[in-house]
Amino acid sequence: MAIALVALGLLTSGVSELLLRNVRPWPSTHESEPVDILIADGVIRGVGSGLAAPGAVEDANGAMVLPAFTDFHTHLDMTRLGLPFRPHTGGPTLADRIQNDLDNWRSGERSVADGAIYTLGRMISFGATRVRSHAQIDPDSGLERLAGVVAARDAHQQRCKVQIVAFPQTGILKSPGTEQMLDEALRSGADLIGGLDPQGFDEDAEAHLDIIFGLAQTHGVGVDIHLHDRGEVGAQQIEMICARASELANDVTISHCFALSSVDERRANSLVDAIAAAGVSVATVAPGTFAPMPLEQLRERGIGFGLGQDGMRDYWSPYGTGDMLDRTWQLAFTNGFRRDDLIEACVDTATAGGAALMGINNIGLEVGDVADLVVLPGDTVTSAVMDRPQRQLVIQDGAVVARNGQLV
Ligand SMILES: [Zn+2]
Repeated sequence: MAIALVALGLLTSGVSELLLRNVRPWPSTHESEPVDILIADGVIRGVGSGLAAPGAVEDANGAMVLPAFTDFHTHLDMTRLGLPFRPHTGGPTLADRIQNDLDNWRSGERSVADGAIYTLGRMISFGATRVRSHAQIDPDSGLERLAGVVAARDAHQQRCKVQIVAFPQTGILKSPGTEQMLDEALRSGADLIGGLDPQGFDEDAEAHLDIIFGLAQTHGVGVDIHLHDRGEVGAQQIEMICARASELANDVTISHCFALSSVDERRANSLVDAIAAAGVSVATVAPGTFAPMPLEQLRERGIGFGLGQDGMRDYWSPYGTGDMLDRTWQLAFTNGFRRDDLIEACVDTATAGGAALMGINNIGLEVGDVADLVVLPGDTVTSAVMDRPQRQLVIQDGAVVARNGQLV
């Protein structure tokens, strides 16, 4: 095994150092050989065998190492993880689920902040060190939920990078006053502006999109819009979003984007062309109830693609554990993937894919990559998706932030 070492001169006092010994980077076969990974100042400085240990040492005993996970679409303000299990009381439609949350989110069992802090900690212990969370903004809750997600970001700032989307879950046009609250949210800790089914829910796509892209321009932020609308109604909104995205300096993401998999192939191809041309990215939560996104086509076209857990055990759904490896399995399973290379592509989406969309491009396991890593036992990357073993170590910016499922 060739030794690749650079910048050892940087390993002077004052620089945090860590040697990860006896670890197998992204093993595609069980025969892959263990190496050492030298980390200094949050960056991988060396990968090879028999590296000297200038600082702390962690012996992985032949476990695999992957880039840490990125949950690119979640709702930290909605979760009931950690609370007693509650039977689902929502109805079958989107509006029913929104109402079920509105009726119950002030359960009195704990504050939004405590729930978000607990859930984010749990996600980190499973290996997610980058998270994009939506925070609901509506006339009922005002900025209370945003404050809870900001508190979670602050509580775990040494362990995880968090982006927050100001999310109008009850619509903008349908909920008077929301536009002003979104504006305030973007001055109060939110990093991006969200949106929700401009036509299907708010019933005026032009007006809804004008508001959120206007706020994006005013505040110089990106857009991440929930688009559940399917078929041609959804397809036309994808085109409207792409047209506006071309005029915006900041990044635009379409979350869910069910229209892509609910129109015919020719129409879907034209939408993929529009998305690629506009530089828009897409996010999925790998739902089992709709045809999956054309993952391979999106990757071939170089379209940014992220994976998230969405709500976790909340008033929308009892699903979600906080573990991005569970959701990676779900992405592979709902696509019907069996080949290792396709399942490894799901892991790449769940790690580097979402990270790139959060502006972090040097995610990997080579010299020069950021040292955001997860160490876990298992034969291969694909076996880790199938078995989902306990994480031995989670490393963020070169420092151990969780060990054996517990935060440190
Ligand atoms: Zn969502």
